[in-house]
Amino acid sequence: MKIAYLGLGIMGRPMAANLVKAGHDVTVWNRTPKSLDGARTADTPAEAAKGAEVVWLCVADTRAVETVLFGQQGVSGVLRPGMTVIDSSTIAPSATRAFAERVRAKGAEFVDAPVTGSKIGAENAQLLFIVGGPEKKVAELNPLFMALGKKVIRVGETGAGESAKIGMNLMIAEIFQSFAEGLALTGKLGVPPEILLELIQNSMIKSGVTDYKGSFVLNNDWSPNFPLRLMLKDIHLMQDAARELNVELPALKEVEKVYQKAVDAGHANDDYAVTVETVRNL
Ligand code: NAP
Repeated sequence: MKIAYLGLGIMGRPMAANLVKAGHDVTVWNRTPKSLDGARTADTPAEAAKGAEVVWLCVADTRAVETVLFGQQGVSGVLRPGMTVIDSSTIAPSATRAFAERVRAKGAEFVDAPVTGSKIGAENAQLLFIVGGPEKKVAELNPLFMALGKKVIRVGETGAGESAKIGMNLMIAEIFQSFAEGLALTGKLGVPPEILLELIQNSMIKSGVTDYKGSFVLNNDWSPNFPLRLMLKDIHLMQDAARELNVELPALKEVEKVYQKAVDAGHANDDYAVTVETVRNL
């Protein structure tokens, strides 16, 4: 297929690379000019998207998606019937529904397809796609998702993918917070962290979160797989949705304070696992 891939960050680059590997005809665009082996490079989102069957986005946040789609040199100007926009960024469900309406007004289709699996999942084509959009269109896109992932779950109509994704990240943030607090307390009690991790992985506490992050934490390796600034962005998405719907999230308020402290200490671009240090230093 002829695909435009917009956003070559930690997630976007390996996703686009796997589309090239699967034999698709890929044109890439990134705000800060970047190229990708085997793909053409465009100077603007519109140039990349012109004539593409699929326009796939993975950019930082709601505002970035809006700019890429509807900004001056955005995709919107070249949208045609038959084109599909897939958004794999994690953004607000309400904004997603509004963007989808604007895309459909041009005769094109829109599917929200945020992912989980982080950098390693993207590199190894092991992502889980959490999808919102028309059932028939999502089914049609299945082979494309499966070139980059291990599973596709359609949650419901437009925006449902983003709704589920922010709920899942809420749980990741809170599971990781409990890991950080467990490490802080047992560390002071004299339990070696590698033993704690071994205990966790052999008990009912075992989780994908500790599987992924355990070795990074043991090595104090805070290089970004999922940058802290993006998890804080997601915490704010969760809190906005909760406010709109009158849902209380008491533990998340405390987690947010920890992330804000970590940002204030200069860790915005480090992995969110650095909050192990933040909690230890409280
Ligand atoms: P990243 O490495 O920070 O990349 C962000 C991308 O967005 C870059 O290409 C950046 O361009 C672009 N961007 C930022 N602001 C923009 C703007 N105003 N206009 C146009 N482009 C803009 O982030 P990432 O880890 O790839 O994450 C991308 C999305 O996937 C985020 O929504 C994130 O929450 C989500 N996600 C991440 C992970 C993970 O583990 N990393 C997992 C699941 C979902 P520049 O290069 O010019 O800055």
